[in-house]
Amino acid sequence: MKDGMKVTIDATHGKIYPGELEIKEEKAKAVEIKTKTQVKANLAFPGTAEKAKHADGVGLLRLEHMLTKAGMHPIEYVRNGRHVELIEIIVDGVGKVAQAFYPKEIWVRSLDARTDEFRNMKGGEKEPQEDNPMLGWHGIRRSVDEPEILKCELEALKQLHEKGLNNVVWELPFIIDVSELRKAKEIAKQVGAPTNFGIMVETPACALTIEEFCKEGIAFASFGSNDLTQTTLGIDRNNENLIKIFNEMHLSMQFLFKHVIEICKKYNVESSICGELPSNRKDAVEFLVKTGIDSLSVNIDAIDKVREWVAEIEKS
Ligand code: PEP
Ligand code: MG
Repeated sequence: MKDGMKVTIDATHGKIYPGELEIKEEKAKAVEIKTKTQVKANLAFPGTAEKAKHADGVGLLRLEHMLTKAGMHPIEYVRNGRHVELIEIIVDGVGKVAQAFYPKEIWVRSLDARTDEFRNMKGGEKEPQEDNPMLGWHGIRRSVDEPEILKCELEALKQLHEKGLNNVVWELPFIIDVSELRKAKEIAKQVGAPTNFGIMVETPACALTIEEFCKEGIAFASFGSNDLTQTTLGIDRNNENLIKIFNEMHLSMQFLFKHVIEICKKYNVESSICGELPSNRKDAVEFLVKTGIDSLSVNIDAIDKVREWVAEIEKS
């Protein structure tokens, strides 16, 4: 897929990049508003970095599109011994974003492809059939079992830092246990890459045990509110019949947000959110800002609007 190509994608699904594909130039102008709570950008296409660089950093850089634009499943590169190519794709794509934003941090999410997502790609047909891929073998749990792609990612991270792009930090999706963080650190050490990972808070398991992660040492904790809502409410985020009760601000979510933000504060760990929620709901932004979240990462076309919301909330 080419950068900027217009596509229609299910807005509740993990493959979404709303706002990124139809950016209007006039909407992407920098707004000179300074806020205490940082407003960052969610990105998937390196070509859009220039349009978002007035944001306070990148709170989520998804690797999926970068890694699949050649039409081949990333795991197929590994199967075919083409690690070097995979590493080059990451260094090239992430490097463009890191350069555009330097010295502001960019948080790159380790590959989080569900087993059904890239089935049509070369090599995708070999992915296991799962009854429930959304809750299946993806994110850090897969990397622990099959670390080859994460190794390539971390080799790319090392190379980026060697080039002076020390504003790149890696983050681990769908984490539920400190042992997964330790495993990632172990691999980073083997490769010679930085070991200061961020984590995505996408399950109650992670949210409720956030203190353990803080004690172990994390660079930041970022709510993946799309998944956190799915796993907390027990609602399949792709099920159209349930959209009406897919409430990312359900009281249970508010408890989890508050708990994680407060514990992170205690340990001086940056708290953030990168799901769809802050791009769309001012009430959520107000709750998160007033609870003390450090940053919000939003779709490119929401940066200016959310900055205005934050400024207004911070003043009130
Ligand atoms: C999330 O779950 O909120 C998130 C940002 O990750 P994805 O939507 O890619 O699963
Ligand atoms: Mg997610």
